[in-house]
Amino acid sequence: MRGNTKTGNRPEARLRSELHRRGLRFRKNAPIRGDGWAVRPDVVFPRLKVAVFLDGCFWHACPDHGTTPRVNRSYWLPKLERNVTRDRLNDRLLGEAQWQVLRIWEHVETVEAANEIEAAVTSRRRAQENGRRVS
Ligand SMILES: [Zn+2]
Repeated sequence: MRGNTKTGNRPEARLRSELHRRGLRFRKNAPIRGDGWAVRPDVVFPRLKVAVFLDGCFWHACPDHGTTPRVNRSYWLPKLERNVTRDRLNDRLLGEAQWQVLRIWEHVETVEAANEIEAAVTSRRRAQENGRRVS
Protein backbone atom coordinates (compact mmCIF):
# COMPACT_ATOMS: atom_id res chain seq x y z
CA MET A 1 0.00 0.00 0.00
CA ARG A 2 1.31 3.43 -0.79
CA GLY A 3 2.22 5.89 1.90
CA ASN A 4 -0.03 8.84 2.40
CA THR A 5 2.64 11.51 2.46
CA LYS A 6 1.07 14.61 1.00
CA THR A 7 4.21 15.97 -0.60
CA GLY A 8 7.28 14.61 -2.25
CA ASN A 9 5.94 11.28 -3.40
CA ARG A 10 7.14 10.25 -6.79
CA PRO A 11 4.16 10.56 -9.18
CA GLU A 12 3.55 14.03 -7.82
CA ALA A 13 7.19 15.05 -8.21
CA ARG A 14 7.26 13.72 -11.78
CA LEU A 15 4.09 15.59 -12.67
CA ARG A 16 5.37 18.86 -11.23
CA SER A 17 8.64 18.65 -13.11
CA GLU A 18 6.77 17.88 -16.34
CA LEU A 19 4.55 20.94 -15.82
CA HIS A 20 7.63 23.09 -15.19
CA ARG A 21 9.26 21.72 -18.31
CA ARG A 22 6.23 22.94 -20.28
CA GLY A 23 6.60 26.42 -18.83
CA LEU A 24 3.52 26.19 -16.66
CA ARG A 25 3.84 28.09 -13.41
CA PHE A 26 1.83 26.98 -10.43
CA ARG A 27 1.91 26.77 -6.67
CA LYS A 28 2.12 23.47 -4.89
CA ASN A 29 -0.08 22.64 -1.92
CA ALA A 30 -1.28 26.23 -1.71
CA PRO A 31 -4.38 26.42 0.47
CA ILE A 32 -7.57 27.72 -1.10
CA ARG A 33 -9.87 29.26 1.46
CA GLY A 34 -13.57 29.92 1.31
CA ASP A 35 -16.22 30.76 3.81
CA GLY A 36 -15.43 28.38 6.66
CA TRP A 37 -13.42 25.92 4.60
CA ALA A 38 -9.93 25.40 3.25
CA VAL A 39 -8.60 22.82 0.84
CA ARG A 40 -5.07 22.14 -0.27
CA PRO A 41 -4.85 20.82 -3.82
CA ASP A 42 -1.55 19.36 -5.04
CA VAL A 43 -1.14 21.90 -7.83
CA VAL A 44 -2.82 25.32 -7.92
CA PHE A 45 -3.03 27.94 -10.66
CA PRO A 46 -4.31 30.84 -8.53
CA ARG A 47 -5.02 33.44 -11.21
CA LEU A 48 -6.76 30.99 -13.53
CA LYS A 49 -8.50 29.27 -10.65
CA VAL A 50 -7.52 25.77 -11.64
CA ALA A 51 -6.99 23.27 -8.82
CA VAL A 52 -5.41 19.87 -9.45
CA PHE A 53 -5.55 16.89 -7.13
CA LEU A 54 -3.41 13.88 -7.77
CA ASP A 55 -5.38 11.13 -6.10
CA GLY A 56 -3.67 8.02 -4.79
CA CYS A 57 -5.41 4.85 -6.01
CA PHE A 58 -5.70 3.34 -2.56
CA TRP A 59 -6.53 6.40 -0.48
CA HIS A 60 -9.12 7.76 -2.88
CA ALA A 61 -10.63 4.42 -3.92
CA CYS A 62 -9.67 4.27 -7.59
CA PRO A 63 -12.19 2.09 -9.50
CA ASP A 64 -9.31 0.22 -11.15
CA HIS A 65 -6.87 -0.21 -8.27
CA GLY A 66 -8.70 0.72 -5.11
CA THR A 67 -8.70 -2.31 -2.87
CA THR A 68 -10.49 -2.81 0.38
CA PRO A 69 -8.06 -4.34 2.81
CA ARG A 70 -9.00 -7.77 4.13
CA VAL A 71 -7.54 -7.04 7.50
CA ASN A 72 -9.12 -4.49 9.83
CA ARG A 73 -11.99 -3.83 7.45
CA SER A 74 -14.01 -2.14 10.16
CA TYR A 75 -11.20 0.38 10.40
CA TRP A 76 -10.40 0.83 6.73
CA LEU A 77 -13.81 0.89 5.08
CA PRO A 78 -15.19 3.91 6.96
CA LYS A 79 -11.84 5.66 6.61
CA LEU A 80 -11.75 5.23 2.82
CA GLU A 81 -15.41 6.20 2.56
CA ARG A 82 -14.69 9.37 4.50
CA ASN A 83 -11.87 10.21 2.11
CA VAL A 84 -14.15 9.88 -0.91
CA THR A 85 -16.92 11.85 0.77
CA ARG A 86 -14.48 14.63 1.59
CA ASP A 87 -13.17 14.62 -1.99
CA ARG A 88 -16.68 15.17 -3.35
CA LEU A 89 -17.37 17.90 -0.78
CA ASN A 90 -14.15 19.69 -1.70
CA ASP A 91 -15.04 19.42 -5.40
CA ARG A 92 -18.38 21.03 -4.70
CA LEU A 93 -16.97 23.85 -2.54
CA LEU A 94 -14.32 24.69 -5.12
CA GLY A 95 -16.85 24.53 -7.95
CA GLU A 96 -19.17 26.92 -6.13
CA ALA A 97 -16.20 29.29 -5.72
CA GLN A 98 -15.70 29.20 -9.52
CA TRP A 99 -12.65 26.96 -9.45
CA GLN A 100 -12.10 24.33 -12.07
CA VAL A 101 -11.17 21.08 -10.35
CA LEU A 102 -9.10 18.40 -12.02
CA ARG A 103 -8.73 15.06 -10.32
CA ILE A 104 -6.09 12.82 -11.76
CA TRP A 105 -5.45 9.27 -10.60
CA GLU A 106 -1.98 8.49 -9.51
CA HIS A 107 -1.90 5.63 -12.07
CA VAL A 108 -2.27 8.02 -15.02
CA GLU A 109 0.93 8.45 -17.05
CA THR A 110 2.74 11.69 -16.24
CA VAL A 111 2.60 12.97 -19.82
CA GLU A 112 -1.11 12.22 -20.09
CA ALA A 113 -1.78 13.97 -16.78
CA ALA A 114 0.26 16.99 -17.87
CA ASN A 115 -1.65 17.11 -21.18
CA GLU A 116 -4.93 17.25 -19.33
CA ILE A 117 -3.73 20.02 -17.02
CA GLU A 118 -2.18 22.02 -19.84
CA ALA A 119 -5.40 21.81 -21.86
CA ALA A 120 -7.46 23.06 -18.91
CA VAL A 121 -5.03 25.88 -18.16
CA THR A 122 -4.88 26.93 -21.81
CA SER A 123 -8.64 27.07 -22.16
CA ARG A 124 -9.07 29.04 -18.91
CA ARG A 125 -6.37 31.48 -19.99
CA ARG A 126 -7.99 31.92 -23.39
CA ALA A 127 -11.34 32.57 -21.73
CA GLN A 128 -9.76 35.23 -19.52
CA GLU A 129 -7.99 36.86 -22.44
CA ASN A 130 -11.24 37.00 -24.33
CA GLY A 131 -12.63 38.99 -21.47
CA ARG A 132 -15.24 36.46 -20.59
CA ARG A 133 -15.92 35.42 -17.08
CA VAL A 134 -13.97 32.27 -16.33
CA SER A 135 -16.75 30.86 -14.25
ZN1 LIG B 1 -5.67 3.50 -10.07
